[in-house]
Amino acid sequence: MTEADIIIIGSGPGGFETAARAASQGKKVVLIEKDHLGGTCLNRGCIPTKCLARTAEVLETLRHASELGVSGVTGPAVDLPVAMARKDAVVAELREGVATVLKDVTVVKGTARFTDRHTVDVDGENFTAPVIIIATGSAPASLPVKGAEMAMTSDDLLSIEALPASLAIIGGGVIGMEFASVCAAFGVKVTVLEFLDEILPALDAEVAKRLRMSLKRRGITVNTGARVTAIQPGMQVVYEQKGKEKTVEAEAVLMAVGRKAVIPEGLDAVTERGFIKTDDNFRVIFPDGPAEGVYAIGDVNGKCMLAHAATAQGEVVLGEKRDLAVMPAAVFTIPECAMVGLTEQQALARAYNIKVGKATFRSNGKALAMGEPDGMVKAIIDADSGKILGCHIMGPHAADLVQEVATAMTAGLSASAIAEAIHAHPTLGETLRAAFVG
Ligand code: NAD
Repeated sequence: MTEADIIIIGSGPGGFETAARAASQGKKVVLIEKDHLGGTCLNRGCIPTKCLARTAEVLETLRHASELGVSGVTGPAVDLPVAMARKDAVVAELREGVATVLKDVTVVKGTARFTDRHTVDVDGENFTAPVIIIATGSAPASLPVKGAEMAMTSDDLLSIEALPASLAIIGGGVIGMEFASVCAAFGVKVTVLEFLDEILPALDAEVAKRLRMSLKRRGITVNTGARVTAIQPGMQVVYEQKGKEKTVEAEAVLMAVGRKAVIPEGLDAVTERGFIKTDDNFRVIFPDGPAEGVYAIGDVNGKCMLAHAATAQGEVVLGEKRDLAVMPAAVFTIPECAMVGLTEQQALARAYNIKVGKATFRSNGKALAMGEPDGMVKAIIDADSGKILGCHIMGPHAADLVQEVATAMTAGLSASAIAEAIHAHPTLGETLRAAFVG
């Protein structure tokens, strides 16, 4: 039996960052991982998709090269094996980085199975610690419909060797829309089928609609209010829309309807919607209540399926203070989207008296100079207190821009702090400021 101060299961952004932090505090940490270091984010999620998104962006830019006065660019096209090899090289480099960060952590390769709440078995070897953190993440979920097994998952799509001519994507959430953008840029005919009335349900509906229109102009077909009911032989996706049964035929189908928790064997925790139930301090709830020293962070607890949320939850477990209510998120579509805080619809539902500020990139000098004027910033402000309630962006570098608002919200600054701060000219940040000036 190996004894440690902390055992962490899973080496994604929740597990490995927490392990490294705890080790730097002098704790004896055992990190158990059955696969490559880095988890979904590094191996099958954020990083590989961003590599392909960058290839897609370059392609889109090259297609407009002549408008920017660059001649000699004819018929740019994706070289998939090269794009995939570059993605794999970036992932491999980052994996090495993770291994370096874990230099003071004992990394054990294998699958952890609980034998009691503080002991796990890894291929016959036992490990015990007063603190166990479960950070085992999630895997693609599927619809319980006939033929669902014919669809690819995002994991499959990240390792394809040849592009399909056409792709039907089930689910217009984050994964669905990111792959829609990338595949369309690569020349694939993309059709998205989304159950709800708008894509990207977490994004402000006005901004999401604007994105949908923009993607339509790029040749992507998006069917909203479309409930997929079956996939038939010949890759015919059957869906219901406004009471009518319709079909879309495509060479390949991507299932992007959410993710399910990966829960270690032998754990008798309470689950909710298939995720490990935890209290506000991420202590695992068992049938007899929350257990001291047993935690679940990241996707596996289903609270917020974002890499940086998992890392922040681990920091909370280690006793640090984090404002988890201010959680920025980005969607790497083309154009990019990002958000923090409430949407206009959520703020109204919570009976806030709101002031909404909007500004478009079309009147921003930097965006026009870049040739990327498509998009807007929307600021949602509490009209009574001036408190920033949320900010939703579609446009160039949205993911980087939203961070200014997240920092202001975390610091408790009011909307006037962003409006009064001098923003350098010419920058995209001026559009952000304009939205807060109102
Ligand atoms: P999601 O929950 O974001 O979206 C799934 C979509 O599928 C929803 O819009 C839902 O309405 C739709 N859907 C469900 N059943 C359907 C049906 N029968 N027919 C048609 N549509 C249907 O899930 P996801 O896109 O798979 O992503 C999984 C998780 O991973 C999310 O929590 C996401 O935040 C996270 N993620 C984040 C990033 C990022 O931060 N950039 C990138 C990828 C994934």
